[in-house]
Amino acid sequence: MSATIPLVDLKRQYKNLQPEIDQALAAVLGKADFIMGSAVHEFEQAFSAFCGTPYAIGVSSGTAAIQLILHALNIGAGDEVITVPNTFIATVEPIVLMGATPVFVDIHPETFTLDPKKLEAAITPHTKAILPVHLYGQCADMQPILEIAQQHHLYVIEDAAQAHGAVYCGARAGTFGRAAAFSFYPGKNLGAYGDAGAITTSDSALATRLSSLRNHGRREKYLHDEIGYGERLDTLQAAILSVKLKYLENANQTRQILAGQYDELLRNIPSIQLPKVRSGSMSVYHLYVIQHPERDTLSQHLSRRGIQTGVHYPIPLHLQPALRDLGYSEGDFPVSEQLAKTALSLPLFPELTQEQH
Ligand SMILES: *Cc1c(COP(=O)(O)O)cnc(C)c1O
Repeated sequence: MSATIPLVDLKRQYKNLQPEIDQALAAVLGKADFIMGSAVHEFEQAFSAFCGTPYAIGVSSGTAAIQLILHALNIGAGDEVITVPNTFIATVEPIVLMGATPVFVDIHPETFTLDPKKLEAAITPHTKAILPVHLYGQCADMQPILEIAQQHHLYVIEDAAQAHGAVYCGARAGTFGRAAAFSFYPGKNLGAYGDAGAITTSDSALATRLSSLRNHGRREKYLHDEIGYGERLDTLQAAILSVKLKYLENANQTRQILAGQYDELLRNIPSIQLPKVRSGSMSVYHLYVIQHPERDTLSQHLSRRGIQTGVHYPIPLHLQPALRDLGYSEGDFPVSEQLAKTALSLPLFPELTQEQH
């Protein structure tokens, strides 16, 4: 019997942790502190320690994390924010929603993250921030990005939604920019059982403002310093995340071992281009993405054999109907466009068994 191999297996993940998760949930239900309960603060402490930043602020999603950061840095109408076209649309939606303009820079052809060589040409007098994406589990090339940002007095905001625990030059994702956005969408390396996210930062004034902004601009229960958002992290999700955080390092190591095995198995197939990790970086393989000239045919072939695959992402953002007003067209970002045509994500998650592999 050939069992289907899914792209991720969240049911198996829950089964492995069931007693601990159930106990954590029961504790919250017993206390009934559902909004900003003690588990939120406990998770924030644990997650900031994991990342290596003084502050973590729990929020309702990765998308909310990005929007709150932009708001807290006063980025809005008339401002430009530089990012990449090959990412999930949630990287860019908050920029547009804040009234600012996304400006795209193409990616490096081997690591698929923002190409620092192409960055300076995109900077204008309106540029306020650079928002690199740590894609598929690998950090963007932060050193040159931070240098260019410093020269031009720009904020750096990390989209770390796919990179919990990824290492670049000895430091973890979430420690490089003025602030970083994490998503705990269920399928992420650290996933909740619903929507959840967090912001990390080393800036204490920014942390205080973010903490208030996510909770209606509150200073006290009915004292509001500014107009904010209802984008808190749920206590139940925080309790789940604290349990799962304890296993994250192990789970990331398992992902790396599985990725190494894929590398070995696929190394001698000339039509397949394997994912590359920059030297000095450690990927946490949120996704294992190969490139193949006949991507759709290969995907159908694997599907017939019960192997589920994904495409991250089939349409680069500069070609999305929702962003047509930005005025980009086909040919503007050839590396991103090529990746969109050839990328294929293979099943890789910590619960994948050797037999399945
Ligand atoms: C998942 C993801 C987001 C959005 O996170 P949500 O928690 O789903 O809002 C943003 N950016 C990237 C790169 C992502 O992968």
